[in-house]
Amino acid sequence: MEQVLNYINGTLLPAVGGGWLDDHAPATGAVHAHIADSDERDVELAVQAATKALPAWKALGTQGRSDLIMRVADLMERDLEALAKAESIDNGKPIALARRMDIPRAISNFRFFAGAVLHWNSDAHLMDDVAINYTDRQPVGVAGCISPWNLPLYLFTWKIAPALAAGCCVVAKPSEITPYTAFLLSRLCIEAGLPPGVLNIVHGLGPKVGAAITAHPGVPAISFTGGTRTGAEIARVAAPMFKKLSLELGGKNPVVIFDDCDFEEMLTSVLRSSFTNQGQICLCSSRILVQRGIYERFKQAFVERVKAMRVGDPADPTTDLGAVVSEAHMTKVLGHIALAREEGGTVLCGGERVLLDGPLRNGWYIAPTVIEGLGPECRTNQDEIFGPVVTLQPFTDDAEALALANSTSYGLASVLWTSNVKRAHRMARDLHSGIVWVNCWLVRDLRTPFGGMKQSGVGREGGHEALRFFTEAKNVCIRL
Ligand code: NDP
Repeated sequence: MEQVLNYINGTLLPAVGGGWLDDHAPATGAVHAHIADSDERDVELAVQAATKALPAWKALGTQGRSDLIMRVADLMERDLEALAKAESIDNGKPIALARRMDIPRAISNFRFFAGAVLHWNSDAHLMDDVAINYTDRQPVGVAGCISPWNLPLYLFTWKIAPALAAGCCVVAKPSEITPYTAFLLSRLCIEAGLPPGVLNIVHGLGPKVGAAITAHPGVPAISFTGGTRTGAEIARVAAPMFKKLSLELGGKNPVVIFDDCDFEEMLTSVLRSSFTNQGQICLCSSRILVQRGIYERFKQAFVERVKAMRVGDPADPTTDLGAVVSEAHMTKVLGHIALAREEGGTVLCGGERVLLDGPLRNGWYIAPTVIEGLGPECRTNQDEIFGPVVTLQPFTDDAEALALANSTSYGLASVLWTSNVKRAHRMARDLHSGIVWVNCWLVRDLRTPFGGMKQSGVGREGGHEALRFFTEAKNVCIRL
């Protein structure tokens, strides 16, 4: 069986402790690889390697680093099909989605930051005849990058690429639930000639490997994407050490549908924003708020379209929804649906596990689920479910829509559907979320700030925000 090895100091290695974890394929429930079960000893080796590699990586300069990062991206593009297949097997997502979204975006992450760093300016502040100030930005040092299982290579590279481009060396941990494409990436980094120690990937469990990276005094910056509870634990450990922290956390995103929207365009988009990747994207809409005038029309048309979605083999290019990522996650999502029923919700479609035939009979599939009849305060409309489950709530006017949209402790991404430009501006300004899409969803320009408010996180990724995070600003003041 394939072994997912650590990538430390340019070499592929088993864990120091010699242990292994199982890597499951959600489509079948079967074990398809073994993962190095690392601990703080492996993290120590990785931090030592990264620290040693730092001066030469910095000295290579922006052009030298950019060229090497571009080379990795080219190799990823060469292997796009193999990476897409691996992502689909490891995560359960439809192969068509991995081909169209995950892997192309991972490649773009490398290319974008390899380019961005070449075009990045320093600020200068001139004080008439007194002095000139300029901002010198030096890499922060060894960066810790910890990522989740939902968009494995996409989110892993979203952190690593700006860190490397900015001149940091990296100790990274993908989710132990979906480590496989990060392992394939480590092979490509060796082939590309990335100097040993510049990127180190340590596999294993969050509370062992992730916690050791967070607590290591040689890692002054932690970039984390994952659940809000884990983010709070990382902040608890890192804050007294005065580490730089970027936390991209959970969400409970609203889509607000006004009766003046383009109905057909909205319907197609809301179907995508609800169920892409089995609803396991932090940006997915989970609370659908619909103006009363079109509530019944929307409900009927939406439920009809949801019922027609195909839940099936992720390897089949016509599948709409594949498997959810793990048995534990399936149980958690089904538990949320049971709770919604207890709270008085009506399940309009879905609401159960889907049992497929043959080799897929033990896979972890859930029917796309639509629930109505619940108010904003219940747990179903407050807790992050992170699966193929959405709720419907009616509203009367802008004020009620805004109150419902802002009624959770999260603030990541909102979607507005309206043809009224003034209303769109007003609502966008007043929504408590880091990202607002108007008449679209998941349109991404990598230069824009990305992140959430409230319990959805601290800090912003993307574009210059990411390069700023991975560098320390120093003001140099020269007397004229
Ligand atoms: P988790 O918080 O469980 O895990 C995220 C990562 O943190 C994993 O690599 C995990 O390791 C690791 N980890 C777990 N415990 C610790 C610890 N004590 N110290 C350091 N690292 C640790 O999140 P999930 O993987 O379940 O991902 C789903 C969550 O991510 C959802 O809440 C979702 O909303 C959020 N998310 C947010 C995004 C955003 O941009 N705001 C984007 C995508 C997802 P392991 O898995 O190996 O245990």
